Amino acid sequence: MRYISTRGGMEPLSFTGVLLGGLAPDGGLVVPEQIPRVDDATLQQWRGQTYAELAFSILSLYCDDIPQDDLRAMVDRTYTAKTFGSPEITPLTLLEEGPAGPLYLEHLSHGPTLAFKDLAMQLLGQLFEYVLLKEDRWLNVLGATSGDTGSAAEYAMRGKRNMRVFMLSPDGRMSRFQRAQMYSLQDPNIFNIAIDGVFDDCQDMVKAVSSDLAFKQRRSIGTVNSINWARVVAQVVYYFKGYFAATTANDQQVSFAVPTGNFGNVLAAHIARMMGLPVAKLVVATNENDVLDEFFKTGLYRVRSNAQTHETSSPSMDISKASNFERFVFDLLDRDGARVASLWQMVDAHGEFDLGGTREFHRAESWGFRSGSSSHAQRIDTIRHWRDKASIVVDTHTADGLAVAQQYREAGVPMICMQTAQAAKFAESIREAIGEEPLPPPAYRGLESLVQRYTLMPADLALLKRFIAART
Ligand SMILES: *Cc1c(COP(=O)(O)O)cnc(C)c1O
Repeated sequence: MRYISTRGGMEPLSFTGVLLGGLAPDGGLVVPEQIPRVDDATLQQWRGQTYAELAFSILSLYCDDIPQDDLRAMVDRTYTAKTFGSPEITPLTLLEEGPAGPLYLEHLSHGPTLAFKDLAMQLLGQLFEYVLLKEDRWLNVLGATSGDTGSAAEYAMRGKRNMRVFMLSPDGRMSRFQRAQMYSLQDPNIFNIAIDGVFDDCQDMVKAVSSDLAFKQRRSIGTVNSINWARVVAQVVYYFKGYFAATTANDQQVSFAVPTGNFGNVLAAHIARMMGLPVAKLVVATNENDVLDEFFKTGLYRVRSNAQTHETSSPSMDISKASNFERFVFDLLDRDGARVASLWQMVDAHGEFDLGGTREFHRAESWGFRSGSSSHAQRIDTIRHWRDKASIVVDTHTADGLAVAQQYREAGVPMICMQTAQAAKFAESIREAIGEEPLPPPAYRGLESLVQRYTLMPADLALLKRFIAART
């Protein structure tokens, strides 16, 4: 499989050639040259596979320049019941049968940091270590986090060879649980840096370091952000898994509802559908930051400024623009890189483009895309509703998915809502909804009393560079 850029300006590269990189040199995102199609016989064969077997079947189509035995070993090490809490890895629970068709939750958040990002990041840790050892080089991952991404990266990279993680977080602005989760890590290759500032200060510092190309190169600085292609493809797996769990034969369809921020998770659903997964609807669920809901309803893609971005009770979906969206638009425009490049020039110049009324825009609807957004009050109601109805406490992100999913259920088609985090991570909103805080899973009780290790630093670029230079 060869990889190209969504803006058409990159010589094709292999999977390992794009694995550690970020944006393509032309500013686009890396995508496979074609999306492989699977036939009915293959689907039938996959239906009987364990999660790890299925992950290998799918990944081997995309990662064909890694010896297959090595890939299989990495996948087997990643998707274990020990790491993800059950042999199913992403189990389904039925919330309701009902005339509107069955409604399921697919649990994506039973990994080490209790959010769905572990499913891709744990594999990425293996893949990165493998390639770095093979090429005898180091990677120093630099990132900024307000919670989920940073902790998922640290838990994936901890103890790995030829890798260090420098993670900036805003001092005192994460939840107690998230802080404890990150700062209690004692692995010598993990550096938590608490910045005296807000998340944007952290992000600005990361951008500033990354734009110092000489420093970046000398210190082997890289990232693990959500545009990494390997993360997307690892996420394709659980859409197949969820489909097989909710159906008995390949002539049945399902719909998925996906709490959406940077469009990584629902992009994986789109890829699964393009590969041949029988999908009726793909429901893009946003919170008050409704950039994507607006697009799927009108065709207008209008990015927001930081000041226009709302701080909500589903913070991992608080985005001003959706970094993976360009990959979807590339498919929507029949993979015409020149047109994608010109649309993103318009975004850079005017903050928006409009595909409303075009033939291409209507294609999104025929592919099953639907959308909606929720308010804080709706998420709180939804949490209460499913606690009362099904004795299940969902987190605010999943609640957003469930709230929007209700609009698109149809008889005879299971609706699977992606559960993207566990309620214990967002205890305050849960208390607001049901009057009590959920208990974290047993293995996490006492986390907050563990010794914490981090470096407090003012938002000072020179200090940060000196800190990194002294440790790389
Ligand atoms: C990251 C995240 C999301 C958004 O996922 P995208 O892939 O960015 O669309 C939703 N919910 C939770 C809990 C997350 O951590």
